[in-house]
Amino acid sequence: MIDHKRLSLDPDAQRRLVDSHMAGLRQRYPYQFPQTLPDYMLDPEPGWLPIIDALCHDVDRLLPAEVRIEFQWTQIKEKFGTLRAYWSLGPLFYDVQCPDGVVSGTVPRQRPDQYEVIWDAIDQRIQSATAESAGTCGDCGAPGTLRRLPWVRTLCDRHAVLI
Ligand SMILES: [Zn+2]
Repeated sequence: MIDHKRLSLDPDAQRRLVDSHMAGLRQRYPYQFPQTLPDYMLDPEPGWLPIIDALCHDVDRLLPAEVRIEFQWTQIKEKFGTLRAYWSLGPLFYDVQCPDGVVSGTVPRQRPDQYEVIWDAIDQRIQSATAESAGTCGDCGAPGTLRRLPWVRTLCDRHAVLI
């Protein structure tokens, strides 16, 4: 968990924290983060950085060395209050704004069959990271719940009060 006292809610400070953390992941797993992927495409909530660390680590363990070339993150961000992590062969996501809220879904992508077991395992691992983010404060990493503020964010009681 991120230390509450160290984490400023100032947006610039949050941005610097996220950027330096993501730069560390780029160094650690260079094949997962192509040079051409701009930093602004890596914009998760700071409280979710430990979730993303674990995700990158587990993706690394799931991928045999010979298929690593197939895997690249294309975007990691917050959307409708939870973590979204998109990758090169992952499903395509859509969100439709309806009167009762947002309806989201995925469309599978064509991908080389012989590694389907690995691709499925990666997709499931990403889904579990998204589920974890739905219970984790985006500001500090403490237990949180989805709140409508009017925009949707996942926050702990303390940070929900601060907003
Ligand atoms: Zn919090």
